[in-house]
Amino acid sequence: MHDIVNRLITIKKEIQSKNSAAEIIAITKTFPIKHILPLINYGHHHFGESKVQEAILKWTDIKKDFSNIKLHMVGKLQTNKVKFAVGLFDYIHSLDNIKLAEKISLEQKKLNKKIKIFIQVNIGDEKQKSGLAPDKANDFLSICTKELDLEIIGLMCLPPYSEDSSQYFKEMKKLLLNTQLSQLSMGMSSDYLKAIDYNSTFVRIGSKIFGERN
Ligand SMILES: *Cc1c(COP(=O)(O)O)cnc(C)c1O
Repeated sequence: MHDIVNRLITIKKEIQSKNSAAEIIAITKTFPIKHILPLINYGHHHFGESKVQEAILKWTDIKKDFSNIKLHMVGKLQTNKVKFAVGLFDYIHSLDNIKLAEKISLEQKKLNKKIKIFIQVNIGDEKQKSGLAPDKANDFLSICTKELDLEIIGLMCLPPYSEDSSQYFKEMKKLLLNTQLSQLSMGMSSDYLKAIDYNSTFVRIGSKIFGERN
């Protein structure tokens, strides 16, 4: 079998051996569709991109041919791209402000579509990073669901690089308990097994499947 498929299978087995049913989102940014096809043909469903424009070029046709594919927007989303993002993606992981929430609400009504959404939390309290402060999550969630009719399914985080992620995953797990939400999008190539230990339900894995990006 193809290398890429073998790597996915290995990761799946690791996750299962921890008695977790977490989904693997194969993060395909920078890789051409030719590189991704073995995974699609193998029957993998969840794929993620971090830029709207790149995703549109790469996935619009493929998604018509493979209707089971679920596409996840994991990168920062600008309000002027929301219209296109809502048309293409099934999940958005990076909701962190009201303007964006309002825009998604408006555009998904126009398309009669309901996107599954994660609220991104700036769990390491890093100035340069996107995400809502942890103590703002609950109020924000309530506006999104009650006033904007968004389908918020969970919380997402990108912990600080070069630090042990475990403490941040632990805080995310705690934060989730205060919300009544059920999904956690956390864990990447370097730390997905730790994320699983703290009940992650969607791990976002790129380089460990596809190789290093340029
Ligand atoms: C690129 C990216 C990933 C995957 O990163 P790897 O370290 O290659 O697994 C996960 N989440 C987000 C938000 C990303 O931008």
